Amino acid sequence: MPAALIRGKDIAVTIQEELAAEVRHLQTMGIVPGLVTILVGDDPASQSYVRAKNKTAHALGIHSEQRSRPAATTEEELLALIAEYNSNSAIHGILVQLPLPRHIDESKVLAAIDPAKDVDGFHPVNVGKMLLGEPCFLPCTPHGIIELLQRSGVETSGAEVVVVGRSNIVGKPVANLLIQKRAGGNATVTLCHTRTRDMAFHTKRADILIVAAGVPQMIKADMVKEGAVVIDVGVNRIGESESGKAILVGDVDFAGVVEKAKAITPVPGGVGPMTITMLMHNTVQSAKTAHNIMA
Ligand code: NAP
Repeated sequence: MPAALIRGKDIAVTIQEELAAEVRHLQTMGIVPGLVTILVGDDPASQSYVRAKNKTAHALGIHSEQRSRPAATTEEELLALIAEYNSNSAIHGILVQLPLPRHIDESKVLAAIDPAKDVDGFHPVNVGKMLLGEPCFLPCTPHGIIELLQRSGVETSGAEVVVVGRSNIVGKPVANLLIQKRAGGNATVTLCHTRTRDMAFHTKRADILIVAAGVPQMIKADMVKEGAVVIDVGVNRIGESESGKAILVGDVDFAGVVEKAKAITPVPGGVGPMTITMLMHNTVQSAKTAHNIMA
């Protein structure tokens, strides 16, 4: 029997409805969560991500501002813009769209964001707190993956989880969240990367396989255990349809793996919609924290 689909798009809609209700409640207290997205340069993919973030924020009743700066913007100018929003009490979340032009030091920029407004969860303070299991902003894609698993009834406790990819934005943090001693964690985690000797040996042992490598359809059916849960984070453009729409595939060979797995996320419509949703979640949380509103 083909795998059940873990429809991130539907789960994201549910979470967004919960958030919109929370925003309406905050508005009755005169509180409007505020998000600023900062884009440097004119990369079309980044432009579309930023547009989508602002559109979602707007739909949920979150005040959102978009600041676009030319590719030639200096590091000092960008740091000054961040400083402006660090001290703007109407803004609870600051998101700098990555990647940045090469002449700007990404780590310096991320570290300049007030950790209390770091809704992307990339500031070293938040990364450290996440590692320690302390309350903090969790990075959006890894957090979205944990939410997908939990809301789909997939038990992580005691599960063998294999993560393919060790980036700072997906692989490392999701592995870290999965080992935390709490709900959505307690897994036994193996992290694979380009130096892993025999990847199929590991992936075939996985009860839950999470793939974030950026290599189109690299995970074939013979690399997956019968009955596994497969989370495909990859988003790869492999061409354009006749109407000019990008053709997207994941890092998993969906057609083959769907016949073997118990559950699988589609691409698109799987992890992607969760990433934006968790950004909205973090922005609402930040507004609540700023106004001393618990949980
Ligand atoms: P990244 O920074 O390029 O990292 C890729 C990781 O995969 C690296 O750790 C790399 O290993 C590993 N890797 C690459 N090829 C491999 C192979 N053949 N075998 C084993 N490991 C391999 O990528 P990323 O930013 O994490 O993104 C990964 C994918 O997820 C991309 O397709 C991206 O578009 C997608 N993504 C989606 C969302 C979403 O919201 N849906 C969010 C973020 C990313 P080394 O460290 O050894 O080089």
